[in-house]
Amino acid sequence: MSKKSLTLIGLGPMGQAMVNTYLDNGYDVTVWNRTASKAEPLVARGAVLAPTVEEALAANELIVLSLTDYDAVYAILEPVADHLSGKVIANLTSDTPEKAREAFKWAAKHGAQHITGGVQVPPPLIGKPESSTYYSGPKDAFDTHEEALKVLTNADYRGEDAGLAAMYYQAQMTIFWTSMLSFYQALALAQANGVAAKDMVPYAEMQFAMMPHFLGLYAQHVDSASYPGDVDRLAMGAASIDHVTHTHADAGVNTTLMEAVSKIFHAGMDKGFAENSFSSLIEILKKQAG
Ligand code: NDP
Repeated sequence: MSKKSLTLIGLGPMGQAMVNTYLDNGYDVTVWNRTASKAEPLVARGAVLAPTVEEALAANELIVLSLTDYDAVYAILEPVADHLSGKVIANLTSDTPEKAREAFKWAAKHGAQHITGGVQVPPPLIGKPESSTYYSGPKDAFDTHEEALKVLTNADYRGEDAGLAAMYYQAQMTIFWTSMLSFYQALALAQANGVAAKDMVPYAEMQFAMMPHFLGLYAQHVDSASYPGDVDRLAMGAASIDHVTHTHADAGVNTTLMEAVSKIFHAGMDKGFAENSFSSLIEILKKQAG
């Protein structure tokens, strides 16, 4: 595209930050949102509010979507699917890899290309150099619009499979949510023992800073499906988790999270992994619980 121009549909906090960033960078931006009033501050800055979704689609080849989920995507686009032919949809809406793959096929059926995006940063970091988004889908369409997409965040293209960007995003969110819950669980224990949350922060920081040292070695175990117990043994880990769980129970705090963790360790013990590294728990995690 020679003209710096695109359409953006969805003006939640993320979509608004995106439109502002495009306007800051000299793009012509056409917007549409179910609740039209959210476009007012953007129109005041130079965005064009399309009166209908059809007109929003007609305005540009590149259609950026920033919606709550894929149900919202279909709620907006299904009734106007006849107007999608020739469009490139950069769908920066978070959802599952399977939904992204379905949307890719659905878009293709209507003559459009679907690029999946998984934005890794909150709205205030849109347009900032430390930001990044996973992309996957048709490489030619990505290459054509890479410059425009990179106005928002750095672009990490992961491959042709439309589901990949969503998979990377959800894998990262898996780490985020479970890590943050473990942090809150430690704070619950600290508070129950009269220690303020703020006093735990340096110790939590120390623990999180240590984590990267474990990742490479244990990823090697997982890729080779070999879990030597020369540094750590699952039996030791299971005993440790029991101590942790009992510590939380003794303090009278919620033990749901620790019991779930303990269940996974003991499933590994029941499978006979006691003398292996605790990385052998991947064998438990990679199958649906029976
Ligand atoms: P919001 O849920 O606040 O944005 C919602 C947008 O979707 C609004 O434009 C809303 O319209 C529209 N919408 C929802 N349901 C429907 C529907 N049924 N029909 C039509 N429009 C609908 O999300 P955010 O702006 O915060 O985020 C957008 C995407 O970015 C999400 O997928 C989110 O997971 C992802 N993301 C968000 C981050 C964040 O920190 N906010 C960080 C990283 C990714 P209306 O205004 O009319 O309600």
